[in-house]
Amino acid sequence: MRAIRRFTVRPVLPEALSALGDLAGNLRWSWHPETQDVFEAVDPDLWESTGRDPVKLLGAVGRARLDELAADATFLEMLRVARADLEAYLTGDRWFQRKEAGSGPRAIGYFSPEFGITAVLPQYSGGLGILAGDHLKAASDLGVPIVGVGLLYRHGYFKQALSREGWQQETYPVLDPDGLPISLLREENGDRALITIALPGGPDLLARIFVANVGRVPLLLLDTDVEGNPDHYRDVTDRLYGGNSEHRLRQEMLLGIGGVRALRAYSRITGHPAPEVFHTNEGHAGFLGLERIRELTVAETGPRLDFDTALEVSRASTVFTTHTPVPAGIDRFPKTLVEQYFSDAGPLPGVPIERILTLGTEDYEGGDAAVFNMAVMGFRLAQRANGVSQLHGHVSRGMFNGLWPAFDEAEVPISSITNGVHAPTWVAREMFDLAAAEGADRDSDDADAFWAAADKVSGAAIWSTKRELRQRLVVDARKRLAKSWEKRGAARAELGWIDTALDPGVLTIGFARRAASYKRLTLMMRDPARLKRLLLHPDRPVQLVIAGKAHPADDGGKKLIQDIVRLSDDPEIRHRIVFLPNYDIAMAQPLYPGCDVWLNNPLRPYEACGTSGMKAALNGGLNLSVLDGWWDEWYDGSNGWAIPTADGVDDIDHRDDLEATALYDLIEHEVAPRFYDLDADGVPTRWVEMLRHTLKSLGPKVLATRMVRDYVRQLYSPAAGNARLLNSDYAGAAELAAWKKRVRAGWPAVRVEHVESSGVTDAPEVGDVLSARAFIGLGDLSPADVDVQLVHGVINSEDDLVDTRIETLAVAESYEGGRHRFDGSVVLDHSGAFGYTVRVVPHNDLLTSSAELGIVALP
Ligand SMILES: *Cc1c(COP(=O)(O)O)cnc(C)c1O
Repeated sequence: MRAIRRFTVRPVLPEALSALGDLAGNLRWSWHPETQDVFEAVDPDLWESTGRDPVKLLGAVGRARLDELAADATFLEMLRVARADLEAYLTGDRWFQRKEAGSGPRAIGYFSPEFGITAVLPQYSGGLGILAGDHLKAASDLGVPIVGVGLLYRHGYFKQALSREGWQQETYPVLDPDGLPISLLREENGDRALITIALPGGPDLLARIFVANVGRVPLLLLDTDVEGNPDHYRDVTDRLYGGNSEHRLRQEMLLGIGGVRALRAYSRITGHPAPEVFHTNEGHAGFLGLERIRELTVAETGPRLDFDTALEVSRASTVFTTHTPVPAGIDRFPKTLVEQYFSDAGPLPGVPIERILTLGTEDYEGGDAAVFNMAVMGFRLAQRANGVSQLHGHVSRGMFNGLWPAFDEAEVPISSITNGVHAPTWVAREMFDLAAAEGADRDSDDADAFWAAADKVSGAAIWSTKRELRQRLVVDARKRLAKSWEKRGAARAELGWIDTALDPGVLTIGFARRAASYKRLTLMMRDPARLKRLLLHPDRPVQLVIAGKAHPADDGGKKLIQDIVRLSDDPEIRHRIVFLPNYDIAMAQPLYPGCDVWLNNPLRPYEACGTSGMKAALNGGLNLSVLDGWWDEWYDGSNGWAIPTADGVDDIDHRDDLEATALYDLIEHEVAPRFYDLDADGVPTRWVEMLRHTLKSLGPKVLATRMVRDYVRQLYSPAAGNARLLNSDYAGAAELAAWKKRVRAGWPAVRVEHVESSGVTDAPEVGDVLSARAFIGLGDLSPADVDVQLVHGVINSEDDLVDTRIETLAVAESYEGGRHRFDGSVVLDHSGAFGYTVRVVPHNDLLTSSAELGIVALP
């Protein structure tokens, strides 16, 4: 029988236990073990059986138990301490208040299509969502005033199970918002707060707004499953990354346009400061820039700006982070679809459709005129943009060079901030306790000092903790295996072997990631016989714990999973290689600490950053990885191993063979011998040395708090600064817009007419000074509108200037007809082929880079 209506009855807590409701109402519990202890003490069995979900726990615990707790002085004291700690966490001054409050933004809106915060709020599919969750948590820890904006999906992402044959099966459990750790945003009169978006040919789309408290950070989640919406509108937030282009476009309009409207409603109702900076985590939320332009061009109060002025205001305060180095991973829509949705009287009255279409046009070599590209719009609507590792920044500058064709890759205005992970979420409590026992302070701003404590912990203590963590993983994995085999149709009697699957004393290698083809899930089984020998080695065996989901529409990925599952079904090796279905936060948390080695073998350079290896490192796992993403940057020769790559080899099969062989060699000759080289006390001292070095060298770097500080200092605060200059009365923005228009119009007349140099003889030597005089025609522009630059560097074999440096020449004399002479000099400071040229680029203090306008004049 199906219910005609469902709802969840919220428990009423006795007055003495009301603090339990406060603790459950803030997701900080999810990274605060002491608060989890309180919930566990409520009812240890229920805590486990509800999947460690405070809201479910409090809904399930009986009246009698609650009355008992209300009279239990020890429990009440524990509760009081936890509640007071939360209060102090929420209200005290933290890093941002101490260091950045003057210059930093009053608030930042952080938009993402997914947020992975805790297993009990499954609103993520993988790395992008986990990163967004870690970003919010680290912002909270640092006191950075972020407000998160996302969608509430009724089904979240799918759960993965296996068929008998090892084929991925997907299910989409329905989430009941009443049972989630979120609350509905209401107007003062108690009505639910709603936002609306006009859609073509139908009524307005309505969405309600849920709020999740992520420590100090509110996260707004929009939900279209509301009364008043026709059924097909209710389905807009049905599931993450489901449906066709039109479905996705609607979701992205809701996220970007609806997200800004939700932020406005939230500020209006709660008095929260309006964001000064808007950050879009990947291109999906890019429409937020258009909504902000609409706000400024049709403002009901305040000045109404023209499109170009509004664009400057919006751009200055927008940050765009790109996450994919794979062109196929970029979000694109048919242009006709965008036209249909944004034409007259669409959701953005006053914003001309031609301007919108232009923003997303691939008007560069190799571009497709029929598509609307969200990343391209992202770059045009955001003055500041970044990739997520040094290498990915480099790859992105190459990939999007077409938007700034006049400039070399190195000057493309896309910077890098390497991702990080939220240690309190991902590091096993036992690891923190080891450091705490040596007096290290987990809450200190000085991460170097904290991780340096690794030197003080004895090898024996580290090693027994690692064994304990390995043991926990083994127990968890066996439970998961048994459950999975029951689902696959095995009888219990057939499953005795699972009791001895995996061994807490064996070198454990973890490998968990989406089954995207570039991640090469099956590289390790390239030579099954050799793999078998490694697994079954009589003295130095290894065991593999593998997990990962394939996209529901990706049969290729499912085939890879099936290949791995079939291999791990082999009775000869099934105790040493296991595939655990349904990789998610709940599985990941015991997985990383339980592994000795974290394996990562993507096809370089397709892993933009990768974060799982960072989580392993913080738990004393050693990375065994291709030099891609973050590992390319921070591998130092002794904090793990680099799998050599055959970058130049075009034949993919051959490349995979070479790289797989290198991987087997490393495991056989380096990794396993070191792990099993024990001293008299049974401690592998050389391994522990490497582990200590990993904690010290990587610990401070891979943190999400380091990442969020970088975002604040390199992007958020400068963006807020620019925005303030432009916005005080919008005169700055109007001036900038007018200046750009004037410079673009005048640019065809700009030329480098003639360059003279002196000071360098026929046989130049290091230390000589090259002086240059450049005669420049500026037409109607003035010397203040431009920089005249002496660009110098090394000449490579193709006769191109590389490793260039720039000297700005100063105006020395002006002549009739808009002609000027610019002078300057450069010291020749190294030997070899040297070359230079002179160029003119636009100059304005409000630009972030010479390349921003994409125009240049060369001789
Ligand atoms: C960390 C994490 C990821 C992302 O890992 P990558 O190394 O970026 O692939 C994905 N899923 C879960 C559950 C994670 O914890």
